[in-house]
Amino acid sequence: MKVVVLVGGVGGARFLLGVKAALGMPAVGVAAGATESPHRITALVNTGDDVWMHGLRICPDLDTCMYTLGGGIDSERGWGRAGESWTVKEELAAYGADPTWFGLGDRDIATHLIRSRMLRAGFPLSEVTAALCDRWQPGVSLLPASDDRVETHVAIDDPDSGERRAVHFQEWWVRHRASLPAHAIVAVGADEAKPAPGVLEAIAEADVVLLAPSNPVVSVGTVLAVPGIRTALREGKAPVIGISPIIDGKPLRGMADACLTAIGVETSAQAVGRHYGSRTASADGLLDGWLVHTGDRADVPGVRVVSAPMLMTDVDATSAMVAEAFSLAGVSA
Ligand code: GDP
Ligand code: CA
Repeated sequence: MKVVVLVGGVGGARFLLGVKAALGMPAVGVAAGATESPHRITALVNTGDDVWMHGLRICPDLDTCMYTLGGGIDSERGWGRAGESWTVKEELAAYGADPTWFGLGDRDIATHLIRSRMLRAGFPLSEVTAALCDRWQPGVSLLPASDDRVETHVAIDDPDSGERRAVHFQEWWVRHRASLPAHAIVAVGADEAKPAPGVLEAIAEADVVLLAPSNPVVSVGTVLAVPGIRTALREGKAPVIGISPIIDGKPLRGMADACLTAIGVETSAQAVGRHYGSRTASADGLLDGWLVHTGDRADVPGVRVVSAPMLMTDVDATSAMVAEAFSLAGVSA
């Protein structure tokens, strides 16, 4: 079976562990020994969080997926490397080097050094990611949605001057914890971006497409902002099944509600389902099926809605969510 999954960082990575398990693969890494899995998973990963800091290119969502699936993640924090130390960050702070609010661990920095060197040498992000994944063996093809620079920026009122200005998503999200109202959220560069090599091919060949319960605005939304991806999903043969990141009117572990509010979408499983829309009953919608958590209800015209447990408490629970998605899509491994 060929599965394509649109993902962000922490939520997307956890979901991918469940996709692997549902296909009988080891959740972390690849199976030892000769027998390769007959299944293929391709993750289209958000690049909107990507940022240059201290001369390093940082791709938080790609790295979260790579470390999680490759067994290198700090599972307590959900991002960054296990067994991390922070010497470089402390030294940068001692120089007063901005920004001081972004977590950059020593082990993690090695990844960013290699990525930055390869990008400067002219390699596209997709090839850089493949090279990094040679080490981590995530068992999933991790494709950046685009090799072109697509970065989320947020219009805020500056807390000091009161003036409206655009800041990088990381500044709003990490520094201000999304506490300043966002007047607009824009995927800068998306208009001119092209899907990375392999993205449209993976969609065309897919048996099923899953929208992970990732942030609908700044994770899945940014992947969809790359021209060509939405059309490929709409016109592809594969059923598209989305999983609601909103449970009982709230996001889990995060501030997705601040992003939804900024684009005028209510924080509910129904509103997010309608925001993605129906592939058949709306002009630019995507969904054939929409999975919501037990007890949640959603009426999304033209979309089959099913409720089942949607909490990624562990790999088994997540694998059961994926099995629900496969059954809603009418496919089986
Ligand atoms: P980020 O890039 O690290 O912010 O992570 P993602 O965008 O991939 O995922 C964040 C989203 O995952 C949030 O909007 C959460 O509501 C959602 N989420 C986290 N845990 C769960 C869970 O157990 N179940 C569901 N359904 N959604 C979850
Ligand atoms: Ca992210």
